[in-house]
Amino acid sequence: MIKTGLGYDIHRLKKGRRFLLGGVDIPSSKGEMGHSDGDTLAHAVIDAILGASGLGDIGELFPDSDPAYKDADSMSLLRTAFAKVKQAGWQLVNLDCVVICEEPKVLPFREAIRASLANALEVPVERVFLKGKTAEGLGAAGKGKAVEVMALCLLEKL
Ligand code: MG
Repeated sequence: MIKTGLGYDIHRLKKGRRFLLGGVDIPSSKGEMGHSDGDTLAHAVIDAILGASGLGDIGELFPDSDPAYKDADSMSLLRTAFAKVKQAGWQLVNLDCVVICEEPKVLPFREAIRASLANALEVPVERVFLKGKTAEGLGAAGKGKAVEVMALCLLEKL
C-alpha cells in the first residue's frame, strides 16, 4: 500500500531568533518564533508523515500547551514521529518540500537540509528534495514577517 501525506506550517519571524530549516541553522537577521525551536520545515514534514500514516498531527503528539516542548528540538520531534510511523510498518518513498520566505535564500543550504531530513527519515538523500521560493512581496511571507512551508510525502507499507 502507498499513501500520500501533506503538511503545512507557518511561523512568524523575529529578530534574535535562530532560523532553522530541517535542523540546519541558517544565518539570518531574523528567525522563527515558536513554543519549540520554531523549525517550520521540520513541523510541516511531521504533519506530512503523520497524515500519510493516519497517526494524527503534530498538535496531538506534541501539544504546544505542554511545557515539555518549550524550546524543543524539532528534529528530535521528527525522529519521534517517524519512529511511530515506522512502528506502524511505513517507510518513506520520497519527500518534496517548498519553503516560502523573502530571505534568507534557501538554495545555498539545500544539500545540508536534504541530508539532515534524509538522515532523520532513514532514507538516501535522493529521496528528499526541497525548493525555496519568494512570495513576490505578497502576504506575511512576502513582507518578511513569516516563513511558510509545504511538504508532500509518499509512504509505502510492504
Ligand atoms: Mg509549527
